[in-house]
Amino acid sequence: MIRFENVSKTYPNQVRPALQEMSLEIERGEFVFVIGSSGSGKSTFMRLILREERPSTGRVVVAGKDLNRLSNWKLPQHRRLIGTVFQDFRLLPNKTVYQNVAFALEVIGRPKGQIVKVVPEVLELVGLAGKEDRMPNELSGGEQQRVAVARAFVNRPMILIADEPTGNLDPETSVGIMKLLDRINRTGTTVVMVTHDQAIVNQMRKRVLELDQGTLVRDQARGVYGYVR
Ligand code: ADP
Ligand code: ADP
Repeated sequence: MIRFENVSKTYPNQVRPALQEMSLEIERGEFVFVIGSSGSGKSTFMRLILREERPSTGRVVVAGKDLNRLSNWKLPQHRRLIGTVFQDFRLLPNKTVYQNVAFALEVIGRPKGQIVKVVPEVLELVGLAGKEDRMPNELSGGEQQRVAVARAFVNRPMILIADEPTGNLDPETSVGIMKLLDRINRTGTTVVMVTHDQAIVNQMRKRVLELDQGTLVRDQARGVYGYVR
């Protein structure tokens, strides 16, 4: 589903590469944690998958497509394969829960009949049935993140990228969000999640990619957060 072949990325006017000679493969349906301290290259890794950045050298292949060869007019189509969830939720503050999710489908031109069918389904899936008409500021952090997950998933993307999705949530609420991401993963969606949350990584025992100063220093199946090398 995602393949990095010797990928290096050096930003303009930078000396040290943000990502260095990275090679790996993530299969369809995997759940992968990406860990590493600030500045280790995690966001760069995610941005390369979304083709928000291009590699300086090497190749990124997503869903069989070499992103170096992807023309700009095909970018929206590429990004539609990938749902994104962020630490700060990024909901539209003036839209209801229902409208936040429906909007994701409206902008890609889905017919109304389909929207009114699938939005309630996905809100049910994330545990927000009955809260359709709430505004984001009337929701708890955990509920807001559920809306964000619903919005990311409503289009049934092949890949879900989550950038510290539990970073603003207390431990209990975080467990709820992880259960949700796990459920989405079990529908066949590949999940790639950046996190600093040790407890979650240690509980879930999924594949762990650890970056250190742009280098992939660990790729561990059923991994843990801290690792004695
Ligand atoms: P992380 O997400 O792990 O904090 P990043 O991928 O954001 O790491 O950053 C990796 C390195 O690349 C850092 O040294 C950072 O300063 C640098 N970097 C990130 N984005 C840019 C950019 N747009 N321009 C220049 N340097 C950048
Ligand atoms: P608009 O896009 O015109 O601003 P809305 O997004 O509020 O309107 O509603 C679009 C459609 O979605 C309407 O036909 C309505 O039936 C449906 N809808 C809106 N809110 C809800 C809800 N909470 N539950 C079920 N259907 C809803």
